[in-house]
Amino acid sequence: MFRIGIGHDTHRLAGGRPLVLGGVTIDSERGAEGHSDADALAHAVTDAVLGALCEGDIGVHFPDRDPRWKDADSLQLLARVMWLARERGYRVVNADATVLLEQPRLRPYIEEMRARLAGVLGVEIDCVSVKAKSGEGLDAVGEGRAVTVQAVVLLEQT
Ligand code: MG
Repeated sequence: MFRIGIGHDTHRLAGGRPLVLGGVTIDSERGAEGHSDADALAHAVTDAVLGALCEGDIGVHFPDRDPRWKDADSLQLLARVMWLARERGYRVVNADATVLLEQPRLRPYIEEMRARLAGVLGVEIDCVSVKAKSGEGLDAVGEGRAVTVQAVVLLEQT
């Protein structure tokens, strides 16, 4: 039996914050605002896993009012959700994500993001796709004010 989930996340960008995507710190003048490390890629993938399990969303499991998740490493949050998936008898088949960010260009970081996510999802790197797109100068992404990520994850009953 297969189950599919979709995830979506947006964070504002601001100076004086690190930009972390897929557990990888990106060399950037602007970073993502948020309670945790604000890793929008990890959050979208986490929401996709939770969606496949019909287990609500990341805010239900890791509320931003909870001081435990202040500056949290979001890959650790994903690891907790994967523990839940395994407990339910599911493994990841593959994951695919698109990161929408105006700058910097993410190509030099893509392989490391895929490797970090694959490690937490418990799959080989060729089961995790990360793509990057710019906002073409339009909307909040295009104006460099936000990073947005879309993700899908397919689970299979073990
Ligand atoms: Mg988020």
